[in-house]
Order: sequence, then C-alpha cells, then structure tokens
Amino acid sequence: MNVPSLDKEGRRIRKKMLIFGNPSIEEDEIEEVSKTVRSGWLGTGPKVHQFERTFQEYIGAPYALALNSCTAGLHLALVVAGLRPGDEVITTPLTFCATANAIIHAGGRPVFVDVEKDSGNIDPNRIEEALTPRTRVILPVHFAGRPCHMDAIMEIARKNNLMVVEDAAHCIEGWYKGRKIGTIGDMTCFSFYVTKNIVTGEGGMVTTHKEGWADKIKMYGLHGMSKDAWKRYSDDGFKHYQVIFPGFKYNMMDIQASIGIHQMKRVDQYLKRREEIWERYDTAFADLPAMLPPPPEPDTKHARHLYTLLLDIDRTKTSRDDFQKRLYEMNIGTGIHFVSLHLHDYYRKTYGYQPDDFPHAKFISDRTVSLPLSAKLSEDDVEDVVVSVTKLLRG
Ligand SMILES: *Cc1c(COP(=O)(O)O)cnc(C)c1O
Repeated sequence: MNVPSLDKEGRRIRKKMLIFGNPSIEEDEIEEVSKTVRSGWLGTGPKVHQFERTFQEYIGAPYALALNSCTAGLHLALVVAGLRPGDEVITTPLTFCATANAIIHAGGRPVFVDVEKDSGNIDPNRIEEALTPRTRVILPVHFAGRPCHMDAIMEIARKNNLMVVEDAAHCIEGWYKGRKIGTIGDMTCFSFYVTKNIVTGEGGMVTTHKEGWADKIKMYGLHGMSKDAWKRYSDDGFKHYQVIFPGFKYNMMDIQASIGIHQMKRVDQYLKRREEIWERYDTAFADLPAMLPPPPEPDTKHARHLYTLLLDIDRTKTSRDDFQKRLYEMNIGTGIHFVSLHLHDYYRKTYGYQPDDFPHAKFISDRTVSLPLSAKLSEDDVEDVVVSVTKLLRG
C-alpha cells in the first residue's frame, strides 16, 4: 500500500519509491521460466523459436531473429548491411548511446542530423544535406514510440541507394500509414530490456523481409557457425558445423524467451494501459509551464514508450536536473531521454561536434524529463505523479 502522506510544505509524499520503468511480470512468466530451467535446456532452443514465431506474426514481417539485445541487433544489421571502414550512417543525436556505438563497432561513422523540435524524431528535411559519397545507411530512431516520417526517409534512401536500418527499441506497437513498424525499412531492431514496452530481462529482435539477411543475422549472432549449429548437442546426435564468418555471441537464451512468450500475449493490453496514463497526464499537465508530447500524427500509431515532459526552464526557475532531484525526494523516479549524444565527451571529441550543431536536440536534451509510464502503475501511482509534478511546477 502506498498511502500518501504530506511533508512539512504540504507536499504529498509516497512512502515507497516509484521506480521508473518497472516491468509487469506475471505468474505465467515465472512458471514458464521454472519449466525451462527444470528442462535443463537453458540456452537457445525451442522457446527462442516460439518467441521468434510469436513476434514475427505480431509484426507481420517475413523474418524475426531473436538476439540478446537490441544493441546486438543494430550491430549485426549494420554488419549485414556491408558497412566498410569509414562508411557513414545518418542517425539522430537524440537517442541512446547504443545506436551510435553500434555504428562505430560495425566500422562506420555516425553522422548526426538534427531532430524536429516538437516530435524529437530525425528531421527528413535535413537528411539530404548530410549525405556524402560515403553514406551507406539511414538509421532512424522512433523516439519515445512515435513513428518517424518513413515515407520521406524511404524515398531519400531509394533515390540515393542507401539501406534503412530502424531502431525501434521504443516502438514495438507502432504503425505508420497502414504499415507496421518492422515491415518498412530493410531491417528493424527491437529491445526487450527491463524498461521497454515488453521485457525479457535482456533481449532484442531484428525483423527483415530478406531471407539472406535473416540467415546472416542468425549465423553472425552465433559465432558465424553454419545454420543449426545451436542443435549440435541435442538428442538428434552431434552435428558438425563450419565457421563461415568470425561472428559474435549474441544469441538469446530460452530462459529469456520464456518471459517474452507471455509478455507478447499482453503487448496490446499494456499499450492500452499506457494510453490511459498518457491521457491522464495530458489532462493534468495542460496548464503547467511545460510542453507536453504532441499528439500522434494522423494515420500513425504511437507506441507510447516514454511520456516526455519538456520543462519551460525559463519560466520555472528550476533546472531540469533540480526538478528531477526534487521528484526523487518525493519518491517519484524519472528518466532523461536523452542527453543528446553530440554533448557526450566521446562523440564531441572524436567527431568535433559543437553544442550548437543540433539546436533542436540540445533544446530537448536540456529540458526533457520522462515520467513513469509502465503498465504496472496503479491509479494511486499515477495520481502521485500528477500531484507531485503539479505541485513542483505550479509552486
Ligand atoms: C534501449 C535502447 C537501445 C538498446 O536496447 P538494448 O536491448 O538494451 O540493447 C537502443 N536504442 C534505443 C533508442 C534504446 O532506447
């Protein structure tokens, strides 16, 4: 029970910390994991294949390949895309570091393009001016669960003979103009990290329409060993394999897939709950000195991964970091998505980026706070967030 109490200033204080991004795990997952552990087949096996089939059917893509993270998926997708040293990949600076790091590990160079000030998604109108003869891939990120302008991005890619790898870590449930996210670009990467819309602890998936890429992702994700090497110790007897490519150790375990299989059954139910919370926040915060996330664009489905409030820091007199700290003192956990990558030491020093190079990403980066949005939140939890945020911003 989280009966709220009031502090000296009359602020409602939760007794227990509201953890940001707390996942919903139910009995079905716990039982399935137990069965898997008891079976002795802990690694890649039948549960991973079942999870891949379930996910592939949900997305409606011809192929879905499970891996141990979305980061692994991004890395392999770029390796499979044939990136060569020095090749450039266009992406957004308003993303998690994994997006840019995967480009670097695949031998490429991340080339940031500024985002739209309202949506936080890469601005397609700025992509063409960033193209060079070394550009090979466009890597859009569906920020917070809002689908990017895929028509414009796909058109630029087609015209310039580029591949499109999507970072859909936030966007499992997204749709864009009648097409499911995961069926538009060449390869799309999803995450099941603990804070994401569905979870497996650690885990990721790549969807694609091309059999050749699907085969390579599977193979490169398991040391580059020939197909079906994962079965080499099964009861069908030992199978010889050949190493075709110096691959990686990126395979998903059956323990992880056991959680994912049951999470997928509730993916749309969880989305519905997050939509309700979103609506409550929109109503409650309409008059505060903050910008609310804009409504979804017509003919798209927003996957509602992050509710990002942009503080009007010129009017609030408190900095974003101070606001976050004060919410924490009221037992409300929040996130920052993201400190723009061009402001981080490594990318700044390595690629010479200046803070003002991407004014929209910097604007968002300085003001954004992500409020709790997990499907697990109770009505009381949501009201605690509403009351605390309102109190702090209204003064
Ligand atoms: C979480 C996240 C990732 C990485 O996902 P993992 O499954 O943890 O590797 C990549 N990109 C974005 C935008 C993310 O939020």
